[in-house]
This record gives sequence, C-alpha cells and structure tokens, in this order.
Amino acid sequence: MPLMPTLRMTGILAAIALVTGAGPAGAQTAAEIDAALKAAYAKYKDLKEGKNADYIPALARVDPAIFGIALVTVDGKVYTVGDISSEVSIQSVSKVFTMARVMEEQGADAILGTIGADATGMRFNSIVAVEMAEKQLGGPEMNPLVNPGAIAATSMVRGSSRDEIWKSILGYYSDFAGRPLSVDKEVFKSESATNQRNKAIGALMYAYGYIKSDPERATDIYTEQCSVAVSARDLAIMAGTLAAGGRNPVTGRRVLKGELVPRVLAVMATAGLYDDSGKWLFRTGLPAKSGVGGGLIAVSPGRFGIAVVSPPLDEAGNSVRAQKAIADISDALGGNPYAPAMR
Ligand code: GLN
Repeated sequence: MPLMPTLRMTGILAAIALVTGAGPAGAQTAAEIDAALKAAYAKYKDLKEGKNADYIPALARVDPAIFGIALVTVDGKVYTVGDISSEVSIQSVSKVFTMARVMEEQGADAILGTIGADATGMRFNSIVAVEMAEKQLGGPEMNPLVNPGAIAATSMVRGSSRDEIWKSILGYYSDFAGRPLSVDKEVFKSESATNQRNKAIGALMYAYGYIKSDPERATDIYTEQCSVAVSARDLAIMAGTLAAGGRNPVTGRRVLKGELVPRVLAVMATAGLYDDSGKWLFRTGLPAKSGVGGGLIAVSPGRFGIAVVSPPLDEAGNSVRAQKAIADISDALGGNPYAPAMR
C-alpha cells in the first residue's frame, strides 16, 4: 500500500489549505497578504523622498501624497491599501502593453528583429542610445520600453487610420485592466505641447528606418497612450494578467497568448526601470515597469501582479515609495522567481 500515505497526506494538505485560505498565490493566506500590504503602507506613508516629474507641466501639479498599493493573485483576488481610487497617467507603464499588442498581432520576433531586447543602459529618452545602436552596434539593439523603441512599437500597431490604431491600443489596455480606460486630457495636452524631444526621437527613428510610417503620428499616438488614466488597482490587474499567463484573472478573458508572456516579462526584466533595471532585478528578481506618473507594476509569474502609485520619483525616474513598498511586499510573500527555496 505504498500509495496510501501519500494520498492521505495530499488530502490532509488540501484540508489545511482550505482552512487557511492558502491558494495559488503560494503559501500565503489572505490575512498574510493583507498584512504585508498594510506593513509596507505604514512604513512608507510618510516618506518624503523624491520629486514629481516636472518636464511635463501637468505632472508637477499631481498631488505627491497619493499612495496606493494593490495586489492581484492569479486566482483573481484583489488586495488593496491606501489611495487606490486616485488616477494618475500611466506614462511609460503603457509601453509594456503596446509591446504586447504588437507581439500578439505580429509575433515576438517582430519586436526582437526591429527594435531589439537589450538594455540601453541609458536614460529613457536618450538620443545617444539611438546613435549608439545605429552607429556602433549596427542594428536593433534597443528595447520597446525606452522612448525610441516605444515610439517605434506604437508605429507598428496595425490599423488603417489614426483612430483605428488608437482604438486598438486603448481597447487592449482596457482588456488588461478589465474596465474601459480613458485619457487624462489635461496630461495629453500638456505633454503634446512640450514633447519636442520625443518628436526628435521619432524623426531620428524614422531616419534610421526603425519607423516606417509617419513619425509625427507615431509620436502623437505614443503621447496619447502615456496619458491614459489608471489607479493602482487598474495597474495591479494589468500586472496580474501577465502573472496569470495572459488571462485576466478578474474578468477571465484571455488577452495575450500564453507563449508570449515570457517574452514580455523578459523585456520588463531587462529594461523596465530604465538604467536602474539591473539594480531592481538584483533587489527583487521581479519583471517590472515604471512610469513618470508615479506608477510601478511588478509581476511574480504564476503568483501575483502588484502595483503602487506614488508620484515622487528618484533620479532615474522611478517612484521612490513604489520601489520600496513592492520590494518589501514581495520579500514578505516570497515573490522572487529566482529564489524557489524561499517559497
Ligand atoms: N510620456 C513620457 C515621456 O515620453 C513617458 C516617460 C516615462 O514614463 N518614463 O517622456
């Protein structure tokens, strides 16, 4: 009867899981996840480090006190603490989902072969990085999570008119978030009036053949995608969809082919926090993406997606409180995918 004890054990473990509420999120109970969120919130609530982005005038006016944390498990449970109803502009977090859109339409190699999947090691709006790729490295040696690659990715989204392309992008983000998202018009107007540098990047990417269609239009759509308004809860569900293998765990709808999810996460791990991506990965092991609106998403594959919104940024343009809170919470929940022994 060698099988019997094993079966009995399985039954006992299942019963324990039922009693404690432990689910596919890992070993943690709902109460433990809640406690991890609350502890991080309390620890960083009064932290005043960092500064709102101000190169886009509307971002300087956002309340720096906004601080919300949300975590979504792959079985669709949503945990929140703090200010999760305030919306900020998604900014560079959008780049993940436009890249995913292009991969979903045209396959992962469309991104790899035209933009690349390597860190530039430079700031997100570096022009030198484009020059380096073109003149020194001689090819697609960037990634879709810094501005040049992101504007190129936006230019690749299919559609017969600006309107059709825009609807495709906004609809896709909304499928990830599980609700219809919309644009913060004030941010869009403010960035449109001040995005000369991004227009220059778009023109350069066109000159070097990375962008094949009208670069002004691509930069304009890119600017609009950065202005989509999201809460910490929205961002966490978007991250949770990646954690759950491309199926929105709250709505149940498949948004991205499962086989493309590791490709998306790989680029996030490589370049999600710009020139601080290595430090972030060293600290947490989590594929992540930040935006200058103060949002940060991170993914513990097969476990949970997490997001924090807090506008003050560090020098690299990453939210200070978001980085600290997510690192602590992931540690508490054993979220690092490189640390299986700790799970
Ligand atoms: N819209 C911003 C820009 O292009 C996005 C940058 C960011 O979030 N890092 O400058």
